[in-house]
Amino acid sequence: MDFSLNEQQRGWQMEARRFAEEEIRPISLERDRIADPAATIDWDIIRKGSRLGFRTAAVPREWGGHGIDFVTQAVVIAELARGDSAIAKTFSQCWKWCHLIADRCTPEQRDRFLKPFLADDTYLLGGGITEPNAGSDNRLPPPDDPRSGLRLRAEREGDEWILNGEKCFIANANVGKLFFAFTRTNAAAAVGNGTSIFAVPIDTPGVRVGKVFNKSGWRFYQNAELIFDNARVPHANLLGEVNSGLKGHGGKNARFGELEYAANAVGVCDAAVEMATQCARTARRGGRLLAEQQLVQLKLSEMHMYTEALRSYVMRLAAESDADRAQPAPHGHFLMNFSSDAIQRVCYANLAIHTYAGGAAMHSGADKLVRDAIIWTHIAGDSAQRMKSLQGLLKAQPA
Ligand SMILES: Cc1cc2nc3c(=O)[nH]c(=O)nc-3n(C[C@H](O)[C@H](O)[C@H](O)COP(=O)(O)OP(=O)(O)OC[C@H]3O[C@@H](n4cnc5c(N)ncnc54)[C@H](O)[C@@H]3O)c2cc1C
Repeated sequence: MDFSLNEQQRGWQMEARRFAEEEIRPISLERDRIADPAATIDWDIIRKGSRLGFRTAAVPREWGGHGIDFVTQAVVIAELARGDSAIAKTFSQCWKWCHLIADRCTPEQRDRFLKPFLADDTYLLGGGITEPNAGSDNRLPPPDDPRSGLRLRAEREGDEWILNGEKCFIANANVGKLFFAFTRTNAAAAVGNGTSIFAVPIDTPGVRVGKVFNKSGWRFYQNAELIFDNARVPHANLLGEVNSGLKGHGGKNARFGELEYAANAVGVCDAAVEMATQCARTARRGGRLLAEQQLVQLKLSEMHMYTEALRSYVMRLAAESDADRAQPAPHGHFLMNFSSDAIQRVCYANLAIHTYAGGAAMHSGADKLVRDAIIWTHIAGDSAQRMKSLQGLLKAQPA
């Protein structure tokens, strides 16, 4: 497979690299140090990135965005994440919901939701599936048991739906303007058959933001509770059919989530390799540079190996998505799990190569990469649950 970038893809990559080096890196540790989790976002960097197209990059050109393909999306995320993983995610989180808009909205809804998003450099998007008692069990419910999965209720009243319940850990919840809420519209059915999605502007009466979570990593990225107390949402904001919310729509955009996290992990691994190499080339132990010690060389080799293997896997899945080729079902999940293993190994090795003061001390830099890497353990379900999709591969292959 040829992974060389064309001129346009290279242009986006270079712009993202420049932005990461000149604008993101200088503020990364400073934002990480802020104690109040609700105060870490920097609107100036969001505005600057938005003006360069990083907020709206995934919206097709004919709808007013930049229409970059999946390979470019992966490359841009990796470059931004090399500067700061959480800042990169704040931009790409908007792409995720733009993909949902592209897949599920009518042309009228698309215009209505995209217009304000495209017009305002600080307009962020979010979406809520997770609830205090429903995280990975939205994805891995006992298949026929209506008791598992999300409980946020939506009941129809004329031309409106009344939403009651609570979401937690919702990205951008305290800073975003439009959210896609996954609601239970049939409590008697299993979650896969009883869920509907509504677009909910944050200023909808009855919607309020609860606590902002104080995370160890990705501190720039905001996660908060969203509380719905008789929130009235117009029927016109229902996406697709009632009860179709969690039914796979099979489009290539549905594969974006795993690609997004894995591409972000590539950028973090690049930053860790760079940091470890710099340290090994300058720090001396036992009268020799660390880079001359065989055990350190082994660690550096392993870091390179995981980083390059992950980059290749990301590029392959991105290229296959662009070609709209059918991929064996579990590869998105395997990619996500591999990215989780790779980022945690690579960032931990970087920390180990540093001295305590340069590595493990709070806000020294290497510690931040490890704290950011821990996030992969708890996003979009969990690694053990994703391994279940191996069943898809077993079914696809003759015994
Ligand atoms: C930084 C960050 C950003 C996030 N952003 C969003 C967001 O924007 N929107 C959103 O909706 N959510 C978001 N989440 C939530 C995320 O999707 C959940 O944390 C994730 O799905 C795991 O759910 P949980 O934390 O409730 O863990 P749980 O589901 O409670 O899992 C805990 C443990 O129990 C195991 N387990 C759970 N169910 C089963 C089962 N049926 N069988 C066997 N084992 C099981 C799991 O494997 C895991 O080890 C975010 C999380 C983080 C960390």
